[in-house]
Amino acid sequence: MGAAEPFETSVRMLQLAQDLFPLNRSITGAGLRQTLSILGQSVPIRIHEVASGTKVFDWVVPDEWAIRAASVRTSSGVKIVDIEDSNLHVVGYSTPIDRRMSLAQLRPHLHSDPARPKHIPYRTSYYTRNWGFCLRHEDLTGLPEGEYDVLIDSELFPGSLTVGEVVIPGDRDDEIVFFTHSCHPSLANDNVAGIVVCTELARWLLSTRRKYTYRVVFGPGTIGSLSWLWLNKGKLDKIRFGLTVVLAGIRSDLIYKQSRMEKSELDRIASAVVQREFSGKVIPFSAWGYDERQFNSPGFAVPFGRLSRATEEGYPQYHSSADNLSLLDGDALSASLDACMRIVDLIEANGVYLNTEPYGEPQLGKRGLYSGSGGAPSQDIQKACLWLLSYGDGHYDIAEIYRLSGLPLSAVLLARTKLLDAGLLKEHASVR
Ligand code: ZN
Repeated sequence: MGAAEPFETSVRMLQLAQDLFPLNRSITGAGLRQTLSILGQSVPIRIHEVASGTKVFDWVVPDEWAIRAASVRTSSGVKIVDIEDSNLHVVGYSTPIDRRMSLAQLRPHLHSDPARPKHIPYRTSYYTRNWGFCLRHEDLTGLPEGEYDVLIDSELFPGSLTVGEVVIPGDRDDEIVFFTHSCHPSLANDNVAGIVVCTELARWLLSTRRKYTYRVVFGPGTIGSLSWLWLNKGKLDKIRFGLTVVLAGIRSDLIYKQSRMEKSELDRIASAVVQREFSGKVIPFSAWGYDERQFNSPGFAVPFGRLSRATEEGYPQYHSSADNLSLLDGDALSASLDACMRIVDLIEANGVYLNTEPYGEPQLGKRGLYSGSGGAPSQDIQKACLWLLSYGDGHYDIAEIYRLSGLPLSAVLLARTKLLDAGLLKEHASVR
């Protein structure tokens, strides 16, 4: 990325977030397909449809959901809630209903959050057939006794679940996967932010040929990652590791959640980048969270980390109408993207290298690698050369030397290239 680009990139991400935010996404249906089709205007996305009723491991792909209208009105026609005002007003996967009923009959189907009385909560009922509405707690408590006209014009029918992926072929078949869930309606940080960061990441990955093959996958949470794993079940041994990218758009610390394997190559790379380049945090794996759970599960055992700006505890606006576009921060989105790119840079460069002149320090000056003379590399690059040579004994990979050195990633990566060009380093073996 050149110096002028981060601003352009953040403007583009915020614009895409604005286009995606209003769509009524769910784990199936038109909002999800529209979302993927908008992404297809920026990156070549492949769409996979998995039919309702398909058994994917221990799950079954549910019927498709379509929603056309949803409202509650008093018997005199006064609007209480209407999906036209917010997609969050209807419980996702609500079954149809069109009936007049008393408040007592309606009440069990109304959901609010007393802890956040001014915000509409986000609720779904994917696997239990039910219907319901979500509203501000302050509106719920003010409802008078009486009759209400309740309408949900929805449909549940055998259709399919949609997963999109951008495949960026590399020199090797080994794959690195980025996954973001894309099933939440009109919620910004969770999950429009992850979608826009991954779209921009795919665009960047497409710009240069790399060593590894990358797949950037957009699918519904849980059932979407499982469906993708099911579609790819014959070639999962090709996946080296991967990352979920979620909740990436708010101004708070960047967090890397380790894979279940904790000390995998990915964990060492991503932890070092997040801590050292972004002053972020590293948290251990936990069995609760996003789609990293599926990839890390014992059957697949793919080391899968997570990059986000919130923990499992969420954030104050989590899963409510307060998680809207005003929460998204262009700099935070840019830095999240940048973290993904730096992780890719280190994944690509990583390996174990041998010092070809291991008897004392090789003379850097005669090879133009000493920082004392004009046109020569910076102090950091010179120091990075010394670190790489000093640890070039076949026991340390680049990620480990980067961590030990305390030097900027850019200096270590540039020093590696210069030493390879000068013949002072040669590849020993890549670590797995
Ligand atoms: Zn969520």
